[in-house]
Amino acid sequence: MDWASAAMGAFFASAIIFGGTALALLPMIRRAFLIWIVARVTAVAVMVWGLTPGMPTPEFLSPQERLLIGVLATDLGLAFTGLMLASFIEARVRARKERKLLRRMLPFSLLPIALLPSVVFAERLDWLHDLLVLGLLAMLITGLVGAIRKGSRAAVFQAFAWTPALGVAIAALLHELLVGGMMPFYLEAMSAALMVEFIFTATGVTDGFMTIKSERDRAIADMREAKLATALDPLTNIANRRGLEQRFESDGPRRPKGIALIDCDHFKRINDQFGHDVGDKVLIAIAQGLDAGNLFVARLGGEEFVLLLYGESWQEDAEAARRRITQAVHANIPEIPYPITASAGLSAVQSGDTLSTAMKRADRALYAAKEGGRNRSLMLTEFRPATSVGPVATTG
Ligand code: GH3
Ligand code: MG
Ligand code: MG
Repeated sequence: MDWASAAMGAFFASAIIFGGTALALLPMIRRAFLIWIVARVTAVAVMVWGLTPGMPTPEFLSPQERLLIGVLATDLGLAFTGLMLASFIEARVRARKERKLLRRMLPFSLLPIALLPSVVFAERLDWLHDLLVLGLLAMLITGLVGAIRKGSRAAVFQAFAWTPALGVAIAALLHELLVGGMMPFYLEAMSAALMVEFIFTATGVTDGFMTIKSERDRAIADMREAKLATALDPLTNIANRRGLEQRFESDGPRRPKGIALIDCDHFKRINDQFGHDVGDKVLIAIAQGLDAGNLFVARLGGEEFVLLLYGESWQEDAEAARRRITQAVHANIPEIPYPITASAGLSAVQSGDTLSTAMKRADRALYAAKEGGRNRSLMLTEFRPATSVGPVATTG
């Protein structure tokens, strides 16, 4: 096999790989430019086939008809290039005029195409055809340069990709117009330039998708972070009511055994005596004091906290957590001279419970604990009037 046919083989192979890849990506990435890439690669392959002497040709085609198909594919391929660039420029780039100009290349290409029968069969108006093709090239270059100036990275890749092919095309047209006849080594130069183009365009498409992917990944991460933030109490950094609801729902069958509603005793007094800042520090200390291994802590608001308790001895766990509040506040805010206590209302989580039905019972128990003198845990005996309270843990 000689060099020329080896080069042709390489050209068609790269065209098939490039076009095939674009086609395969289409169902996954539904973007118009992939269609135009496929259309262009097909046009370019037909062009090389139509213009290269000695290519296999069906019997029903005369040499002139084959030439006509080759030049037609050249003109159409150029128009498809404009359409490809118009849809390849990133959506964020404000290049309305450039996109419009590039899209007009397709209707404009009908002018040189209309001249083709005369050019090929009567060998007349060749110069006019070439001038119109130069016009198409000018439209493409104007659109490309404009898009680059407006910050399109995709257009920069296409500029690298097309420089060799544009250079060869312009040289060939000028040769035809000024010297007459086909430029020597036109097809060899053009197919080499187009192979360079395929590689750069493929790199540009990959680069575009890496950018889109990293932008998408960042947006998803931001969204996750924002979602987490909406479920957190900004002061104590533990779950808020929304976080509590999310946790209760996500627990599913592994739901907590019990729930405790905990309210700091005489909290208003702390604010009044030591100021709101100290009150805030107390809330942070309470959140830290409540936290332990087999429970989930949330702040409902104000000085009210909720525990979801998972252990077999969940009532003892709740009582221990309630008692830790006093130590935690004393350790962190020693300037408060008296012990800070809290009251807790407990409720077992039953099979038909929602968070709100379980919390309602816990709230009634908390009310009873406050009524009973504060600084204690209480669980109401189920199905009895609220007056018959059964303390589950000793008062502190
Ligand atoms: P009780 O023993 O009956 O629970 O009395 P209490 O004083 O704790 O109850 P009350 O509900 O009357 O007071 C709660 C106070 O908590 C009132 C409000 O100003 C204060 N508070 C609510 N949210 C915050 C906060 O984020 N920071 C601070 N420092 N205070 C808060
Ligand atoms: Mg209180
Ligand atoms: Mg309260």
